Amino acid sequence: MPIKLEAVSYVYGENTPYRKEALKGINLTINEGDFVGIIGHTGSGKSTLVQHLNGLLHPSTGRVTINGVDAALKTEEAKLMRHKVGMVFQYPEHQLFEETIAQDIAFGPKNLGFSDTEVAQRVREAMDFVGLDYEMYAERSPFQLSGGQMRRVAIAGVVALNPDYLILDEPSAGLDPFGREEIFQKIMELHEKKGITVVLVSHNMEDISRMANRLIVIDDGQIQLDGKPLDIFMNQREKLQAAGVDVPPVSKLIEYLRQRGLPVSQEVISVDD
Ligand code: ADP
Repeated sequence: MPIKLEAVSYVYGENTPYRKEALKGINLTINEGDFVGIIGHTGSGKSTLVQHLNGLLHPSTGRVTINGVDAALKTEEAKLMRHKVGMVFQYPEHQLFEETIAQDIAFGPKNLGFSDTEVAQRVREAMDFVGLDYEMYAERSPFQLSGGQMRRVAIAGVVALNPDYLILDEPSAGLDPFGREEIFQKIMELHEKKGITVVLVSHNMEDISRMANRLIVIDDGQIQLDGKPLDIFMNQREKLQAAGVDVPPVSKLIEYLRQRGLPVSQEVISVDD
């Protein structure tokens, strides 16, 4: 079930002095099973792009399809497809609003009309999955949690919707190293254990190069590079830098590959930073 963008352009503030073409003719297919990293500097169009993936924004021109269905349609079928794509926004903890953690996570599945039993089951599973003990946390206020924990609640709320795709916009922004690690572990698990296709937006090459199997570099509303992270990292460093991406030293990359138990080729080791 791919998500496909065909010649997608998006304009903010059409017919105003603030007109801004944030996406310019994007062609992109996200395949099931991918872990896609999207990187680019602030204002390059990343958020605008990912908001097209679940029909939050509709293209000014061009088309987005989810499993072949136009995501902009108002039909039941299109709605169903959009629900297969879960979205975790920047600073998702700002969207927590219920009195208890369990109620907050239940909000989405309840809205989709699932039975109370099914909702309760999903809440338990989602909490379990993000590592929040049900007995200990279900009835607590989400606002008593640490930043990393609040973000886990927000992610659990999306996981409880059982999405096929999970889109995360800067999920580690503002967290301390421990909180970041927590979140990334969970995202990797969602991908590896639940088989969820992940699209992760970041401006941080380190985060992406350690997780994604495909890297998309966006600059000025256009896709500049699309390929294997290691390949781009090794062979397109100048283009990456030109796109405003902070390129970490190769030694960092080697460290990450080793952490993940992945082989480090001689090609990588011999790069002189
Ligand atoms: P990124 O996520 O890479 O930081 P965005 O997609 O947020 O980039 O923004 C792309 C461009 O669109 C930027 O120039 C930004 O200023 C502009 N933009 C984003 N949101 C709006 C909006 N709501 N109204 C007007 N312009 C916007």
